[in-house]
Amino acid sequence: MNIKNNKTGKKQVAISACLLGERVRYDARDKRHELICRMFIRQLKNQLDVVPFCPETAIGLGVPRDKIELVRQKDQSIRVLGVENHTWDVTEALQSYARAFLKQYPNLKYFIVKSRSPSCGYKTTPVFLNAMEESLDSGMFVQTLLQIKPDLKMINESELLTEQDCLEFLGNIDFEC
Ligand code: SF4
Repeated sequence: MNIKNNKTGKKQVAISACLLGERVRYDARDKRHELICRMFIRQLKNQLDVVPFCPETAIGLGVPRDKIELVRQKDQSIRVLGVENHTWDVTEALQSYARAFLKQYPNLKYFIVKSRSPSCGYKTTPVFLNAMEESLDSGMFVQTLLQIKPDLKMINESELLTEQDCLEFLGNIDFEC
């Protein structure tokens, strides 16, 4: 599969926008990650096209906004509901945005995501049942991406501790400063 941007010939990597310092979280803050910013925005800028994304703002949620969470249903499915208001359901909006995102970026293979997020987390997000943490799963945007394309390479920011971790994630991309 061609994983490069057809226009620039560079490898594409999608990154949760809050990790890049964008103040898009529910509390209007960011989760800037210094190593990711240094490696993916500065040192590897000649080899990579970075695609920032924030599923929650993309579906029209404001900044700041009420918190959402993954909730286990009686039929065992998972929905994304408001923490304070379980009648507020954004599941289908996040699923629909994931489908549109893959159509917009058909060559994307690499995703660096914010751990534990109900939208972006990769196998690290709490699923609640009767207000108790029941298990861990992926956020709804990431779950939907992986249902459509199971071979996407996905990693949480919490697993990127060194420059070598970043390079290994990208399949040891040739490194030029
Ligand atoms: S939806 Fe994802 S990118 Fe947006 S603030 Fe939450 S974790 Fe960050």
